[in-house]
Amino acid sequence: MVFKRRGMDDTEADKLADKLLQVDRDQTGQVTCHLCQHFNPRRKTCGNFRSAGVGQEVGELAAMAQRCAGYQEARQ
Ligand code: SF4
Repeated sequence: MVFKRRGMDDTEADKLADKLLQVDRDQTGQVTCHLCQHFNPRRKTCGNFRSAGVGQEVGELAAMAQRCAGYQEARQ
């Protein structure tokens, strides 16, 4: 649901949900930008890019499972 609110279509949201389920199962501590309060889904930018160590425009990185020093869980 949160993915759709953040502008993803059904297929994209399903793929990301599957990926996150796998990550959770692996207990790696990885996240995606779509779960982070610093992510702007319309522009695909990071509002905390300096702490995260990435460029301001995250683009395709947004959907990749990663460990991120700048991550903060999005408010529901
Ligand atoms: S802080 Fe990290 S997880 Fe959050 S939007 Fe930026 S790069 Fe993505």
